[in-house]
Amino acid sequence: MKTTTELTAIETYRQRRAEVARLLAVLNTALDRFTQNAEAEPADWGYAGTMGHIRGTLIEMLGGFRELTGGPHCPQCFETDIDRLVWRDDEQVDCQTCGNTFVP
Ligand SMILES: [Zn+2]
Repeated sequence: MKTTTELTAIETYRQRRAEVARLLAVLNTALDRFTQNAEAEPADWGYAGTMGHIRGTLIEMLGGFRELTGGPHCPQCFETDIDRLVWRDDEQVDCQTCGNTFVP
C-alpha cells in the first residue's frame, strides 16, 4: 500500500532551505578545490572563464532576493557595501567594484 505524506508549505520550505544550505557548503568546497587547480595553472584562462560564469549565475540568482538584501546594490555586480557605492550629484550611483553607473 502506497502512502503519501503531504507536507505543508513551511515544511517544504524548511526541507528545501536545508538542501540549499548543504549545496552552498558543497559550492564552497568546490571553489576551494577549483582555486587550487587555477593557482597551479596560472596561465590557463579556462579557470577565469568558468569563474566568470559562476559569478554571473550567482548574481542572477541574487536578483531574486533583490528586495530582501536591504539597501541599495549595484544591479551589475550586486555590490551592497555602501562604502563602494558612491552617490553622484545627478542622483546616480557609481559602483566602485565594477564601474557601473545606475539609478538606485
Ligand atoms: Zn557593480
